[in-house]
Amino acid sequence: MTDSSIKNIVIVGGGTAGWMAAAAFAKVLGGRYAIQLIESDEIGIVGVGEATVPHLKLFNNLLGIDEAEFVRRTQGSFKLGIQFDDWGRIGSRYFHSFGAIGHDLGLLPFHQYWLKARRQGKAAADIGAYSLNAVAAAQGKFMVSASDVAPTSPLANIAYAYHFDAGLYARFLREYAERLGVRRLEGRIVDVALHPDSGFVEAVTLASGVRVAGDLFVDCSGFRGLLIEQALRTGYDDFSRWLPCDRAVAVACEKVGPPTPYTHSIARGAGWQWRIPLQHRTGNGYVYSSAHISDDEAAATLLSNLDGRPLGEPRLLRFTAGMRRKFWNRNVVALGLASGFMEPLESTSIYLVQSGIAKFLNLFPWGDFDPVLTERYNEQSIFEYERIRDFLILHYHATERSDTPFWDACRRMSIPPQLAQTIRLFRDSGRFFRQGEEMFALVSWVQVMLGQGIVPESYHPLVDQVAQSDMEGYLASVGKVIANCVQAMPSHAAFIERCCAAVPVPA
Ligand SMILES: Cc1cc2nc3c(=O)[nH]c(=O)nc-3n(C[C@H](O)[C@H](O)[C@H](O)COP(=O)(O)OP(=O)(O)OC[C@H]3O[C@@H](n4cnc5c(N)ncnc54)[C@H](O)[C@@H]3O)c2cc1C
Repeated sequence: MTDSSIKNIVIVGGGTAGWMAAAAFAKVLGGRYAIQLIESDEIGIVGVGEATVPHLKLFNNLLGIDEAEFVRRTQGSFKLGIQFDDWGRIGSRYFHSFGAIGHDLGLLPFHQYWLKARRQGKAAADIGAYSLNAVAAAQGKFMVSASDVAPTSPLANIAYAYHFDAGLYARFLREYAERLGVRRLEGRIVDVALHPDSGFVEAVTLASGVRVAGDLFVDCSGFRGLLIEQALRTGYDDFSRWLPCDRAVAVACEKVGPPTPYTHSIARGAGWQWRIPLQHRTGNGYVYSSAHISDDEAAATLLSNLDGRPLGEPRLLRFTAGMRRKFWNRNVVALGLASGFMEPLESTSIYLVQSGIAKFLNLFPWGDFDPVLTERYNEQSIFEYERIRDFLILHYHATERSDTPFWDACRRMSIPPQLAQTIRLFRDSGRFFRQGEEMFALVSWVQVMLGQGIVPESYHPLVDQVAQSDMEGYLASVGKVIANCVQAMPSHAAFIERCCAAVPVPA
């Protein structure tokens, strides 16, 4: 199978990853290939990926999905960022917002001017006061970018993501993909046949005895990695020495009050809790280290920290943070949980599925499986994973918390050298350099570093080129423009009600 062209694509798994791949392949590859997707109702899906990053908008745009319909059909809400409570120390709070912070001036980013003013005691406001998203989130406001304002207005370019019901999103994408000709097969795969010489996957066999042959296989089978690991033995790089959480307990609860336009992340004694507001319910989960708390204690902690009445029993999920040694091995490309997993602290998993699809379509093997394509794909995927990994480690490591053995261990752990260098540079002079096309940009790193309590000892010397009075006026005017813009925004609940209210679900 190394020199023949691809005709049949088989996607194994119908969770978020499988249906995202099916929808995108059907849209982009058109009628050139037969696309089949196999899923097993008996096994089911993970179904807990409910918070996203702004990139998903691009994915939906590629598919030509109408935003209002998508939000309605998935009981969705909008997300301006993440509010972190008790992370740097108990009682601390910061907001990691999407979009710009202030307004860059000359060669330097906004936060450099803010750092100088802060040192002088002249910028009383927290850095969040210069972010439209953070100010709007604190007031429960939301709107999409306005077309009837000046292009330079912060309202002309609002960065946001979505919260949605993962099961409904998979169903929505399934309808889309099936409309475009993807054939769905229901059944449990019990056998994987490899070519005796090349080791390529030739076919999978269902419990019913049906054999499904393919030229290219997309492994979206979840944590088990049915093809990439169980059949091809690709290997796994374990990140748990830096990302110690290995379990989550999740439960939805009744919503109380209007949905917040942000994800809420609250640090707990052995991990952290998420709260994700949807139109029909609130998703909750406690991500924790099983070395520091028992499953029963974690479930009890979660249940005693819900906004509303739980809707069902808490569900336990086990995982090991890490990634496959190869994301594309022979004629198998792994996406979603089959390719690796990093906990949902910054809602990166669905983004990684999207990014994997985009990279793969770019490097698509039109003719044969050229090893150069595979190598490039794997290099890019490993780079992307490792940079996100470091960003997540930052949240755990840069903390003053010493109240539990878990936080003590996080604070004291040795971290990857590149992250150590990033922190040192920022602590010295507030500087940060984005590497290549890593996912998180300067504003994200800066907000999280400041929020976690890393205070730069100085600022960039070029800041002094701007006259003191000009700098103070500049900061004040940026703050004022943002406050005025937010005043003009509707509440998140009012925006949803007007534009994309879902059909209410009976209690
Ligand atoms: C606790 C937790 C919280 C998360 N929160 C977020 C979040 O907020 N944001 C985010 O972006 N991501 C989040 N994620 C990740 C997100 O849930 C996943 O990335 C996403 O759901 C994709 O899952 P998947 O499709 O890869 O796997 P799954 O949902 O597990 O789907 C696997 C599919 O493979 C099929 N399958 C498996 N074995 C067989 C077989 N033998 N035969 C036939 N079919 C088979 C199953 O039937 C299923 O259809 C979270 C994950 C966890 C664990």
